[in-house]
Amino acid sequence: MISSPRQADEKDGPKEVHLVLLDNGRSRIYSDPELLATLRCIRCGACINHCPVYVRIGGHAYGTVYPGPIGKVLEPQKEGLASHGELAQASSLCGACGEVCPVRIPLPSLINRLRYESVRQDSSTTQGAGSRRKWQEAYAWKAWSWAASHPRFYNSGAQMATRVRKIVPNKLGAWTSVRSAPKPAARTLHQHVAAMGVDNE
Ligand code: SF4
Repeated sequence: MISSPRQADEKDGPKEVHLVLLDNGRSRIYSDPELLATLRCIRCGACINHCPVYVRIGGHAYGTVYPGPIGKVLEPQKEGLASHGELAQASSLCGACGEVCPVRIPLPSLINRLRYESVRQDSSTTQGAGSRRKWQEAYAWKAWSWAASHPRFYNSGAQMATRVRKIVPNKLGAWTSVRSAPKPAARTLHQHVAAMGVDNE
């Protein structure tokens, strides 16, 4: 209960009252018409218990106060995308969290929005927007987009990959410390379906 400063006819009470609200960035969240749904959370934990990522890795792996789907949405907004943006990547986007949320927070679309904002700055209200954009990755996707839209180049590249599969190394740094290195297939998809007698020209 917070009272006002002492009134002229009152014998006790404070001379002045200062109210300091520590909202941890929630006013900023509230100012965004889409992201403000985050603040409807009643901390029931339903999304957490239905999240396939959370049930496998547990709460401590997130390293934040709020784990699970709501943590993936709230923490990057509170702490900024530069330091906590990767949490939004820890989702298969299966949609279970959005379905079980009793207050209908559209968690999957908010996760998508934060993923987008972490690599783009346009029309963003989230701290650190665009901070996770890597120019190498941006160029890699541009090159992929070009190759995938030029069938001759793509097909000859795919055929070349089948020929060099034997010399693709089995160790690819830290990535292969817990998993096998992927190898190009022995035949391209076109060769495979052609061998099955399907006309794919
Ligand atoms: S299910 Fe909805 S209300 Fe419950 S913790 Fe998750 S986001 Fe919050």
